[in-house]
Amino acid sequence: MDTIANAITIERAKTSKIDQVDFNNLAFGKVLTDHMLVCDYKNGAWETPKVVPYQPITLDPSAKIFHYGQSVFEGMKAYKDSEENVWLFRPLDNHKRINISSKRLAIPEIPEDYFMEGLKALLKVDEQWIPTSEGSSLYIRPFIFATGTGFHASPADEYKMIIACAPSGSYFAGKVKVLIEETYSRSANGGVGFAKAGGNYAGQFYPTQLAVEKGYNQVIWTDDNTHEYIEEAGAMNIFIRINDTLITSPTSDRILDGITRKSIIEIAKDENIPVEVRKITVSEVVEASKNGSLKEMFGAGTAAVISPISGFGYRNEEYDLPELENSYAALLKKRITDIQYNKVEDKFGWRY
Ligand code: PMP
Repeated sequence: MDTIANAITIERAKTSKIDQVDFNNLAFGKVLTDHMLVCDYKNGAWETPKVVPYQPITLDPSAKIFHYGQSVFEGMKAYKDSEENVWLFRPLDNHKRINISSKRLAIPEIPEDYFMEGLKALLKVDEQWIPTSEGSSLYIRPFIFATGTGFHASPADEYKMIIACAPSGSYFAGKVKVLIEETYSRSANGGVGFAKAGGNYAGQFYPTQLAVEKGYNQVIWTDDNTHEYIEEAGAMNIFIRINDTLITSPTSDRILDGITRKSIIEIAKDENIPVEVRKITVSEVVEASKNGSLKEMFGAGTAAVISPISGFGYRNEEYDLPELENSYAALLKKRITDIQYNKVEDKFGWRY
């Protein structure tokens, strides 16, 4: 067996909180499990990960995470099938992506076996926390941040990775109404938009608050240069259906390379749905809405899987999307979740 897997230590919580949790009424990411994985980076190397009871951490006030925002994270899920087997969905892609994010933030990369064996050790200890009810799963949040100290604006010399988990119910927020954003940007050319850097999300909160005050649920991000190209939907990738063609923006240094997005593209092709990965302008979508060829828009991401959009606002005009009986959103969501919950054969080899 792998040496790192054998070296991981496990300190069990003295008491469990699990009896206090109402598994039939789970919010998203509110209750955390009994344990967490901790792995420290010191003296130029990652130390052996350890599973410990979930607990607060102590940091020096000059830790660079607080001043310079050196932090990255991931979002993934563990699923239980009807026989209580536990599955992950494309987890090696999350590992690769956290390292892509880390590299951009000058954070040392975490080796694959530390990440994967650490995650597996944690899931074994907290296995009972993985919900079994329809649509629910264990949301997994790996994150890495600078614990090294000092006010000098330079990369820290010490970091911590934590993996914490929260049993989460299905994210049925219903359809969302979105505002096409032309003033603020979430990312820029040469920036950090492709990374899951904590600060990217802090920067989204204020423009999103303004949209919420106007009665929208989310913001559709356009490119920072012209605000003419549609890029992402809140913290999700975006899909737009015009007639029968499904269109999604190509990834770039401004767009996160979503695992749900790339899976949806493959499933759609497998369904013989015409898919176009290309730039799409706001004018094209507005025009399609006016002439009736705009059929669907939806966000895609790990948390909500697929989040259908009911309509959008643009330059003080409202555009509604039609109610469809056989939507791509419903079809694609069923196909991807059936794979995730081991209800069907996994022809793509995504289950782990
Ligand atoms: N875009 C952004 C900005 C995100 O934060 C996320 C969530 N990770 C996504 C897209 C969707 O990515 P994934 O499908 O890998 O969850």
